[in-house]
Amino acid sequence: MANKRDYYNVLGVSRNATQDEIKKAYRKLAMQYHPDRNPGDKEAEEKFKEAAEAYEVLSDPEKRKRYDQFGHDGLRGGRDFHEYTNINDIFEAFRDIFSGTGFGGSIFDDFFGGKTTARTRRGDVGLRGSDLRVKIKLTLEEILTGVNKKIKIKRYKKCSSCNGSGAERGTGTKTCPVCHGTGEIRQVSRSVFGQFVNITTCNHCGGEGKVISEPCKACSGEGRVMEDTTVSVEIPAGVSSENYLTLRGEGNAGRKNGQAGDLIVVFEELPHEFFVRKGDDVIYELYLSIPEAVLGAEIEVPTLTGKAKLKIEPGLSPGKILRMRGKGLPNINTKKPGDQLIYVNIYIPNKISSEEKDLLKKLTASPNFKPVERTKRSKSIFEHFKDIWN
Ligand SMILES: [Zn+2]
Ligand SMILES: [Zn+2]
Repeated sequence: MANKRDYYNVLGVSRNATQDEIKKAYRKLAMQYHPDRNPGDKEAEEKFKEAAEAYEVLSDPEKRKRYDQFGHDGLRGGRDFHEYTNINDIFEAFRDIFSGTGFGGSIFDDFFGGKTTARTRRGDVGLRGSDLRVKIKLTLEEILTGVNKKIKIKRYKKCSSCNGSGAERGTGTKTCPVCHGTGEIRQVSRSVFGQFVNITTCNHCGGEGKVISEPCKACSGEGRVMEDTTVSVEIPAGVSSENYLTLRGEGNAGRKNGQAGDLIVVFEELPHEFFVRKGDDVIYELYLSIPEAVLGAEIEVPTLTGKAKLKIEPGLSPGKILRMRGKGLPNINTKKPGDQLIYVNIYIPNKISSEEKDLLKKLTASPNFKPVERTKRSKSIFEHFKDIWN
């Protein structure tokens, strides 16, 4: 702490600077030393961190008072200011510091490259209900058409007895007996540098300074109770395990009328009897008999909606891919359907009669049955992998 620079010097303001002057000075430094403007400049980064810390203290009248009185020893790192090690933490802190000040958000939105995140206001954080996450299992047929699912969940809902207030009907709030309404607990400690005041949030009232005089019996003063409920979820066609849906306000109710959390729905694709999904396409492995592959045939193959006839040309090799256009899944965004790919394989029996054996022996002698490409690199397998796995 001893090597820390004086916060007023850091910001370049006088000891009796107004809050407005402090803000202006800080903003100027933040612009000047911003890492985007000083890429790779360690010194600028240190100045950027130092300014953030100085501003964090001097912009808070209580912390400033303690700093004026006791210097750096009157403050505690982690609570009164952040010892910034990660530059990204500063960006987060900046947003907080600048929201609700005279600067408005627009300058800083531009300043930070438009990366704004919707943040809950600090005062609401403790009361907001948590998000819930549910997984819905879907068949490929359901993904094909889209589906409405009713899901059972357990969640907090607003207590109807007290209408979410947490107070028993007809009763109100009273001043917190622990902190006497300040919301803070102060402890004076002494060190070799002098005494300093340690301030923590009152646990009894959570910093609100008020407590319910008589808690609601139905919810024990929480303002919310557990419920078993069913939520209807409309799932669009074409979803995958990489997508999720956010149902705003369908998560846990907040304590004491705090904002409700969200319900986040994620998807799990169930394995299919016939198909493997690849993006918007579905792949089906078709086994042909040796005669079918050689002579050609008309085969019935399953599709996502039933069955379809497929004409097999004579002399079809295993490893070939046949494409049935539009028989796949709709694209989640464009709704354009993918294809059904037929990966051709040949069924080799492992048990045959002596007659069949004789027939095959005759064929072995025929030059037509000799593989002409046995010694060449098989082109088809590369084509095949390129098509399927790219
Ligand atoms: Zn209640
Ligand atoms: Zn209190």
